[in-house]
Amino acid sequence: MTDGAALVHGATLRKRFGGIVAVDAVELAVAEGDLIGLIGPNGSGKTTLINLLTGHLTPDAGEVYLRGRRADGLPAHAFAAHGVARTFQLTQLFGRMTVLENLLVPGLTRPRSTWGAVTKRARTTLEFLNLAHLEHLSAKNLSGGQQKLLELGRALMLDPVILFLDEPFAGVHPLLRGELIKRIQQLHQSGRTLVVVDHDMESILRIARRLVVMARGRKLADGPPAQVRADQTVLAAYSGL
Ligand code: ADP
Ligand code: MG
Repeated sequence: MTDGAALVHGATLRKRFGGIVAVDAVELAVAEGDLIGLIGPNGSGKTTLINLLTGHLTPDAGEVYLRGRRADGLPAHAFAAHGVARTFQLTQLFGRMTVLENLLVPGLTRPRSTWGAVTKRARTTLEFLNLAHLEHLSAKNLSGGQQKLLELGRALMLDPVILFLDEPFAGVHPLLRGELIKRIQQLHQSGRTLVVVDHDMESILRIARRLVVMARGRKLADGPPAQVRADQTVLAAYSGL
């Protein structure tokens, strides 16, 4: 059964790699307007869950629904066409292309895109991310944090309804981290739905409206951050590391 009101709904999802059950009977319904923090220790299944919810992996059991319509088994580009975008834990930039070109590539893959409109959107996106002055630089020459911002920009070129960000704060300088948090909040205020993965609670508690905790492939807790934070099973999962 699906939750018809959810934008993206993973129903009793399961994914196994050899002897490891990376995601085990996980239920996650993301409602329009949510800003979810998805946390859990390394190896707890966060990335695998994102892969399942964005069409990058097919579940062994369970289903994925987009606005109530069955979507598991569809390719990732079909998810993207339905407004589902994601960033990768390890950025997937074209290092030898310029910052601007890195945005043109995903922009031009959209149906009915024109060079003029895509270029305009790319420049607007770079301004939003404070990267406009770097548009002619090769992506490989950006700092780690700037690369994370550009990766976010690539996802924004798809004009997504929902964005999954996989560890956007990892390896980002604290100054740029604040910048990234601000942009995430602005995207949320402008009506986008976000699921932000992090492996520690610090940055995520500053922004999440709802906190989902994974441990060993299972969903341990799901609710308002203050409530989840006080949850003994969550504290135990973290202290047991
Ligand atoms: P997280 O993002 O929370 O760190 P992952 O989803 O990356 O966790 O990994 C969950 C578990 O699944 C880990 O034990 C990891 O080693 C395993 N895993 C993930 N992807 C693969 C894969 N492609 N092949 C084999 N094992 C994998
Ligand atoms: Mg991960």
